[in-house]
Amino acid sequence: STNTDFTLAIEDLTVSFDGFKAVDNLNFYLDRNELHVVIGPNGAGKTTVLDLICGKTKSTSGSIKFLNKELTNLSEHEIVLAGVGRKFQTPSIYENLSVMENLEISYPKGRGVFGSLMFKHDAVVRDKILEVATQIMLEKALHTEAGLLSHGQKQWLEIGMLLIQDPQLLMLDEPVAGMSVKEREQTAELLNKISEGRSVLVIEHDMEFVARIAHKVTVLHQGKILASGDMKDVQKDPKVIEVYLGH
Ligand code: ADP
Repeated sequence: STNTDFTLAIEDLTVSFDGFKAVDNLNFYLDRNELHVVIGPNGAGKTTVLDLICGKTKSTSGSIKFLNKELTNLSEHEIVLAGVGRKFQTPSIYENLSVMENLEISYPKGRGVFGSLMFKHDAVVRDKILEVATQIMLEKALHTEAGLLSHGQKQWLEIGMLLIQDPQLLMLDEPVAGMSVKEREQTAELLNKISEGRSVLVIEHDMEFVARIAHKVTVLHQGKILASGDMKDVQKDPKVIEVYLGH
C-alpha cells in the first residue's frame, strides 16, 4: 500500500455473516487530527466497522492498518495496546469508585501504579489523572463516587478512562445519546480538543451534532460507502438524500 501516512488505512475490508456482507469491500482512511463521523441508516454496517477495527469481529478479507501495523490478526487486547480506544454506548465505569479511582485503574499497567489504588499516587500518574480530569470537566469531582455523576458526566468519565491510556485512535458510539443540550455542547468541545494530536472516529445519528463536530463525514449504506467528505457536500448528495428520505 502507498497510504502509509494515514493513522488508519482500511483496504478492501469485507465481513460476511452466513453469506450476508455486513461490510462490503470498504476502503477508508483516517488522518491524525481528524474527527470523522460515520452516519447511515440502521443496519448500514457502522457498528460492524468499529467492531472490526477493535478486533471484536474478525474480517472475512481485507486489511486494517493502524500506524502501519496490521490489526486484522491481533486480539482485542493487543489492539488496545497498539493504541486503539473504543467507547461503547453503555458506560463501563465503576459506580462505587470515585472519579479519581476510575481514572487510576484505567492507567496503563506496568508504570508503577498497581497496588496504589487507595494510597499515595506516583506523581506522574497523579499529574496525568489531573490532566485528564480537567479535560473531561471533572476536576472538581475527583472524589465524587462515579455512581453519583450525571448521565453526561458518566460518559465523559468513560472517555477519560480511555484518554488516560493515550490512544492514537479513539472510537465513540453515539457519544451524546441521552445528554442534555448543555452536555452536548460541552461534549462537542471535548471531542474537538481530543482530536488534536490523534484520530477520532464517531458513530452518530444526531445530524445537528454531526454538523457541529465532524471534520469529515462518511455515509454507509448496505456495508458500502455511499458518500464521503465535508458535511455540506455530503448533505447535498442526491444518493444520501434518497437513502435518508426516499423509500
Ligand atoms: P449499524 O451499526 O449501521 O446499525 P450493524 O453494523 O450493527 O449496523 O449491522 C449491519 C448488518 O450486519 C445488520 O444487518 C446486522 O443484522 C448484521 N450483523 C451485524 N453483526 C452480526 C453478526 N454477528 N451476525 C450476523 N449478522 C450481523
